[in-house]
Amino acid sequence: MLYNKILLKLSGEAFSGDKGHGINRPTLVSLAKEIKSLVDSGIKVAVVIGGGNFWRGRDAENYDRVTADSIGMIATVMNGLAFRDVLQSEGISARVMSAVEVPRFAEILIIPKARAYMENGDVVIFSGGTGTPFFSTDTTAALRALDIKAQAIFKATLVDGVYDKDPHKFNDAVKYDSITYMQVLQNRLAVMDSTAISLCMDNKLPIHIFNLDIPGNIINILKGQLIGTIVKEN
Ligand code: UDP
Repeated sequence: MLYNKILLKLSGEAFSGDKGHGINRPTLVSLAKEIKSLVDSGIKVAVVIGGGNFWRGRDAENYDRVTADSIGMIATVMNGLAFRDVLQSEGISARVMSAVEVPRFAEILIIPKARAYMENGDVVIFSGGTGTPFFSTDTTAALRALDIKAQAIFKATLVDGVYDKDPHKFNDAVKYDSITYMQVLQNRLAVMDSTAISLCMDNKLPIHIFNLDIPGNIINILKGQLIGTIVKEN
């Protein structure tokens, strides 16, 4: 296997299925089955969850940004709790940690504890974003991957990789198999926000962009298949 410890970034929209909003349990069940195949193969998995299926601070007009982002961070905790429930019902031992304090519902984020849980084979769900407004859960994914010494980020998307232009709008859009952090930043490609990309670049953390709708994609990438796009140094 290419890596034995990965961080999976799931955006909120990956939770809503066809509904486009909120949480669709059957969608979570398929995600959980993907994760189970990884855990069963001995891969240690952490998950960072977005909140866009409920709320995105930057889209919330007329609200103070700090308040809007606070609501967004709480949305990620809701997703985290739902996903733990589904993971557990699929027989996966899972923990939710939160960077914002909601002690009745989720453990406060303590990195050594998260690492210990992962050593133990638990899937750790990092919710609450960074705990700070003006950041994204993509940046959270980069930070937590570094915190737990994951070897790569797997960022799930609805297309099958990174293209030079929007494949929904242009027939001649070309998919990259591999691309550098610098190309992503210079061409403003919609991979992750620039804070997240910069963190990955400074720490040489590879990012795999792949289509979440195709079962087996993550494990097949781990087995060395050329799927999606890898973002790396060169
Ligand atoms: N958020 C934040 N700080 C963080 C992470 C998230 O303030 O460190 C807020 C922000 O409002 C963001 C929302 O939480 O829009 C949901 O996160 P994100 O937009 O990254 O979710 P996704 O697009 O991945 O579903």
